[in-house]
Amino acid sequence: MAIALHPSIDHGVKPGSSTFAGGTLRCHCPSHQVVVRVDSQTAHNHACGCSKCWKPAGAKFSIVAVVPRDKVHVVENGNKLHIVDHNAVIQRHACRECGVHMFGRIENKDHPFYGLDFVHTELSSDQGWSAPEFAAFVSSVIEQGTPPSEMGAIRARLKELGLEPYDCLSPPLMDAIATHVAKANGKLAA
Ligand SMILES: [Zn+2]
Ligand SMILES: [Zn+2]
Repeated sequence: MAIALHPSIDHGVKPGSSTFAGGTLRCHCPSHQVVVRVDSQTAHNHACGCSKCWKPAGAKFSIVAVVPRDKVHVVENGNKLHIVDHNAVIQRHACRECGVHMFGRIENKDHPFYGLDFVHTELSSDQGWSAPEFAAFVSSVIEQGTPPSEMGAIRARLKELGLEPYDCLSPPLMDAIATHVAKANGKLAA
């Protein structure tokens, strides 16, 4: 049996739809759910092994994507949201009752990813969200208790699913961060 990584990819990665234009995310509360409308397809969807992203119980990885922040609207029960850690670069707005993170937002205007919110499209019953493309911060699952001896099997399974494993972000995203830094410090033309 293949090693379980996350319920939405364990049976294969579902392709996204090129015509999909957004949908609705709901928290896990049985009633009075926090509802967030996302008026855009997601980008850079990926599996993330870091300890900060929300993931369902038992999952080794989160599945997280980005959307422009002006496309994210809290439409119901926003009074249940709180920011998990005000000091974190990504401020994760979570439901106080069920703990699900509805969106993560960067408030530092100098950050390379300022303007993008992080969302978990598994919170949506809408079909067509962009598919995960790679796996980030894979080694970080050890920090949360995964024995290092399992890492070979985990990386092999990610590759089998078509999710290239990286121990930071993917090369295009690392390049985007470095380009932002180079423009900020004058090494590259802005
Ligand atoms: Zn909730
Ligand atoms: Zn993460």
